[in-house]
Amino acid sequence: MPEEQNFWLTTVQMPAAPPQPLPEKTDIAIIGAGFTGLSAALALAKRGARVLVLESQTIGWGASSRNGGMVLTGLKLGVNQLISKFGRDLTRRMYAASLESIGSVERIVSEENIICDFVRTGHLEVACKQLHFDDYARQAETIAREFNHQLCVVPRDRLRSEIGSDIYYGGMVDEISAGLNPARYVAGLAAAATRTGAQISERTPLQSLQRESRNGERGFKLNTSRGTMWARAVLIATSGYTGPATPALQKKIIPIGSFIIVTEVLPEPLARELSPRNRQIYDSKNYLYYFRLTPDRRMLFGGRAAFFPETAQTIRKSAELLRRGMIEVYPRLRDVKIKYVWGGTLDFCFDLMPHAGQLDGIYFALGYAGHGVAMATYQGQKMAEWIAEGETDNPLAEIPFPGAPLGLYNGNPWFLPLAGAYYKVLDWIS
Ligand SMILES: Cc1cc2nc3c(=O)[nH]c(=O)nc-3n(C[C@H](O)[C@H](O)[C@H](O)COP(=O)(O)OP(=O)(O)OC[C@H]3O[C@@H](n4cnc5c(N)ncnc54)[C@H](O)[C@@H]3O)c2cc1C
Repeated sequence: MPEEQNFWLTTVQMPAAPPQPLPEKTDIAIIGAGFTGLSAALALAKRGARVLVLESQTIGWGASSRNGGMVLTGLKLGVNQLISKFGRDLTRRMYAASLESIGSVERIVSEENIICDFVRTGHLEVACKQLHFDDYARQAETIAREFNHQLCVVPRDRLRSEIGSDIYYGGMVDEISAGLNPARYVAGLAAAATRTGAQISERTPLQSLQRESRNGERGFKLNTSRGTMWARAVLIATSGYTGPATPALQKKIIPIGSFIIVTEVLPEPLARELSPRNRQIYDSKNYLYYFRLTPDRRMLFGGRAAFFPETAQTIRKSAELLRRGMIEVYPRLRDVKIKYVWGGTLDFCFDLMPHAGQLDGIYFALGYAGHGVAMATYQGQKMAEWIAEGETDNPLAEIPFPGAPLGLYNGNPWFLPLAGAYYKVLDWIS
């Protein structure tokens, strides 16, 4: 049995925020110490604001230390779907934001000197069906025409130059994407935010918040496990872990489990055969697999093996399901040892889009749907700009934020087994 442990956390000492009393008031309170919250904290502290980050567990405890470390361009929905839903102009701006988001990670990594193995490896999407491959050409053509961005479609007979597997019908490469070690990155973000003057308070869950004016100034009273405090503005950056402290947002977020296994270190020739260009790889299914080599040459293989968020049971079950999935893709890994398995929670909105905005005066950015390493970092920066300057050009703030159909959701995702079955069927038929 593999160890139930996050491999990335074995590669870094996470910074521990020194325990300090909660300030009575602050300019901006940020809830959640992941990529969104810490990137916003860093940008706001750089502008001279007093910033307090409240984290119910520890720095990077959420999805930000648990993910595959794929720094990806694009959004969860395909471009043609985006255009038909949101129109050309808005889609163009959203796509530009997704490209810019890779640059914003790279800039922060370089400016803050974060040692996190950031490399522009490019990403490879692989087609599980001929139909999916046929769509790649259409997507690449739209992206080139509308966004002036080049993707490379790789037919099946040339796919061996990209991946050491014969089960796919072809692929599509975006050279702009990158890979990094997410735990090192989130640790570095926290250290940079603290260095710049932000305060992080670990093990301090926000329990509730209300509007409250003080000395004629509008703001919010925050009730936390360590007492109450007041902030002029609040940013919710709780992603898939959004809970009852912010019930209006909780009702709009579906928490979905995603799980990862990591093998022992592979011999160099084998690693090179499996992923000759060291790409960040994912397939074209709804119930998708994503995989890559770690910087020390292990195979990291992830997927939605169980739809429910991580528990000891879903993690154990996932280890075996993912091992089987990995062997389907790479039969040569049959006898390789799986050393680590863990899970985390993704944040899906009902329209599969990320959202940023203000609800009852409270700022939020979430709903990254498994595309959050770059976008969460970028949204943190954009939210900081909005809070500091009072206006924003963030295209994600311009799209409607739907709740559950017929309002049939109170934050308890009773429909997850149905959704899981639905997507499995969809993968058979489409
Ligand atoms: C297994 C897995 C693999 C993934 N792989 C990729 C990938 O390869 N590429 C990619 O782009 N994206 C990936 N993602 C998605 C990506 O990790 C997330 O979108 C991103 O980390 C979200 O960052 P965040 O800061 O918004 O949220 P998180 O990192 O989840 O942070 C939210 C924090 O809020 C805290 N919190 C919640 N409620 C409260 C409260 N009331 N008070 C105080 N604190 C609170 C939580 O403890 C948590 O630490 C993956 C996700 C998972 C789970």
